[in-house]
Amino acid sequence: MPSFRAPRGTRDLLPETRAGLSRLEAIARSLAARYGYREIETPLFEQTAVFERGIGEVTDVVEKELFRLAPRTEESESWALRPEATAGIVRAYVQAGMQTWPQPVKLTLAGPMFRYDRPQAGRYRQFYQWDCEAIGDPGPAVDAEMIELGWRFYAEAGVPNVQVLLNSIGDAACRPAYLETLKAYFGRHSAQLPELERRRLETNPLRLLDSKDPDMAALIAAAPKISQCLCEACETHFASVRAHLDALAVPYRLEPTLVRGLDYYARTAFEYYRSGAEGQQQALGGGGRYDGLVELLGGRATPGLGFALGLDRVLLALDDSGAAATKETTPLAVIVGADPADTTARLKVASQLRAEGLAVRAELSPRKLSRQLESAAKEHAHFAVILGDELADGHVQLKDLEAGTQRLVPIGELAKDLARAARSHHHG
Ligand code: AMP
Repeated sequence: MPSFRAPRGTRDLLPETRAGLSRLEAIARSLAARYGYREIETPLFEQTAVFERGIGEVTDVVEKELFRLAPRTEESESWALRPEATAGIVRAYVQAGMQTWPQPVKLTLAGPMFRYDRPQAGRYRQFYQWDCEAIGDPGPAVDAEMIELGWRFYAEAGVPNVQVLLNSIGDAACRPAYLETLKAYFGRHSAQLPELERRRLETNPLRLLDSKDPDMAALIAAAPKISQCLCEACETHFASVRAHLDALAVPYRLEPTLVRGLDYYARTAFEYYRSGAEGQQQALGGGGRYDGLVELLGGRATPGLGFALGLDRVLLALDDSGAAATKETTPLAVIVGADPADTTARLKVASQLRAEGLAVRAELSPRKLSRQLESAAKEHAHFAVILGDELADGHVQLKDLEAGTQRLVPIGELAKDLARAARSHHHG
């Protein structure tokens, strides 16, 4: 007997969890609409080069975590499953000529992402993100608007105590000098660097600040800060982002070691954490400005920024905090019958009610009426519609399982009756 399991690092979202995710997606969709983001859908896989360029070849995501698809022998192209949404969305922006649309183009997407990570708590190989991108606006106001949007998402989702960590990582004008300073600093301590970090020191020194290696923590804390090296333009931009956040009353904490280790990232960088859980790998979401990315993917130089919020971790946080994540729907009514064998009559009545937009279940097992009623009560249906002898002259018994009352209703009025009861009892 084969015993199949979901692939390592993936999990089935069983109905309760899937309902929780749907609830988050609904909140995201509603917020995106309120903030003027339009939905986009890009393929789950892209040419590998889109990610190699768009994310950077010397990043964990591309170096170690990219899910590469084995090409068929005759194909020369290579593809990979998307590890995040930004690169694909920006590729679509360029491909569809969105530069000619009114700017900024604000796009949103929620869906699965794939990373060949080592699976652990809160880290999966298939996970779910809500992503927003505002392309074509240099900020700083839109930066604050986006940070507020993410912050509001957590509030509406019911995640308590979410904190915004904020930094500016400079731009092409001031970052090179900072990188030299950083290189010199870590160079002086190279004896203490783990092998991987020593290699990164040459290719991408900013990445060292991002290191998950516990041996690096003290070195990182004492490293020179980008905030002391910002040029005037970046300083002004950053001050304005903060002033806008203050005006919106969004609380944030300056986090000078928060970086995004990629060349095209510029200025604003932010992450969302639950207070007290600011440790490694605990980020609920993050984002930043990527003023060089559109050009890198073949478009004209265009500023932009975006965020990606991990929805799996929100579900986990809601579990932790004991907040009710879901309210699963139960049928409003169950159609039962005195003649256990007459499944046709029960199915027909159910079909008519469903055509009227009502959520009902037809009892299709040929068991005794009393058993049918028991199971209707067990699933917390509000009503049982009982088909009996009265059906011959067009009536059914409508039993209110919550109130324990019962009355005769003409079949033609059943839908209206149930709908009215559903409204007054807020049945979903
Ligand atoms: P990143 O693009 O790495 O900044 O990820 C953005 C957010 O997605 C993170 O803050 C996490 O909440 C979530 N995330 C990233 N990778 C994973 C993963 N392997 N499993 C679950 N959630 C993830």
